[in-house]
Amino acid sequence: MKGPSVREIFHYACFTLALKSFLHQPGDGRMQPEIPASSLSWGLLLGAILRLNSAHRLEWLARAADRKETGLATGFGDDALAYFTERVDPEVLRHRAAATLKLAKCNKVFEGTAFIGLAIDGTGAGRTTKQACPLCHPVKDSQGSITSHVHNLVMISVVGAGITLPFDVEPYKPGDSEYTAGKRLLKRAVSQVGPRFADYVVVDGKFASAPFLHTADRVKIPILARLKENLPELSAAVQARFGQPPPKESFQFGEDWIEVWDADDFDPWSSLNWPTVRVLRYRQHKKDGTIIQADWLTNFPIARLGTRSFFKLAKSRWEIENQGFNDGKNRFGMEHIQHHHPNSMLVNWLFLLLALMVERLYRIRYLHRGTHPIPTSMQLKDTLWLHLRPAHADTS
Ligand SMILES: [Zn+2]
Repeated sequence: MKGPSVREIFHYACFTLALKSFLHQPGDGRMQPEIPASSLSWGLLLGAILRLNSAHRLEWLARAADRKETGLATGFGDDALAYFTERVDPEVLRHRAAATLKLAKCNKVFEGTAFIGLAIDGTGAGRTTKQACPLCHPVKDSQGSITSHVHNLVMISVVGAGITLPFDVEPYKPGDSEYTAGKRLLKRAVSQVGPRFADYVVVDGKFASAPFLHTADRVKIPILARLKENLPELSAAVQARFGQPPPKESFQFGEDWIEVWDADDFDPWSSLNWPTVRVLRYRQHKKDGTIIQADWLTNFPIARLGTRSFFKLAKSRWEIENQGFNDGKNRFGMEHIQHHHPNSMLVNWLFLLLALMVERLYRIRYLHRGTHPIPTSMQLKDTLWLHLRPAHADTS
């Protein structure tokens, strides 16, 4: 039976995505390691692709499945994985994820995309009731007692390009803030993928503060941010301008009817050093009668970004919620802590994002050649499992 297999995806990762030398040298900080780094690093990628969601199940796979098929040269225990992830240098992983994105762009993975976006947003993952680590944020009940801990992080993802590719995370400690972590993440990501990789940054209202917008200016990328009540002066000016007049344009968007207002001469609030602010308001009429209205601000000039494109770019922010956090947590085990250690959690998340990148590039771009339909992520995972054989199986 022919079809996608673990062996094929391993070959694709090693050669098409040029990850072979990285798998052997993933920034391994162990002294005199017994288990080769390549087994552990590929094991972490494969574990995410096959959705094992735990170090114990990965240990089982390495022992139970045919090694020629899995690409795992040796078996290993969850203690070996923990020892390894505590010592991997996350910068090596981040560098490799950025290099994989640049390679994808060179290979025309985003071809046909007018504007490649970077979305940034924060979330919490790995809730635990066990002893806290330095990254643990307390979760309190209504009486103010600590009931558990959660790990907060900010993620960055390629969006608006037909394929959602999250590629870096920045966890932050209690006392630090989501948008400070977001600023660090944006600066680092742009320094790694280069200033010409992306055409815009898109963020939710909590990042619509002058320091964050100025960070986007410094990395020379136009930014779109949701405008909410946390900017009362601008919100009031927008309501005064857009509240009464008819929309500038109306158009069909899927099954919905969209009305838009767009003007580029709003005054910046006092701490924002932009000459003017452009604001888009859209009102989305759904078939069931519900109406969604939202305001977005940007420094993208109208001459370079038309009103309908502004609307589409604003909508691309949902990709980090849906294909980033929801898929990462519900399908690929991002919620689960494999080893409760700050560096291990970060390294596990970065391996998970790299696995998502390999899975999506393989499934959506490589398998979808010619007239082949795109398999769903679930179909691919099931097919990969079907083609695995137990260790020492009679192959005659
Ligand atoms: Zn913790």
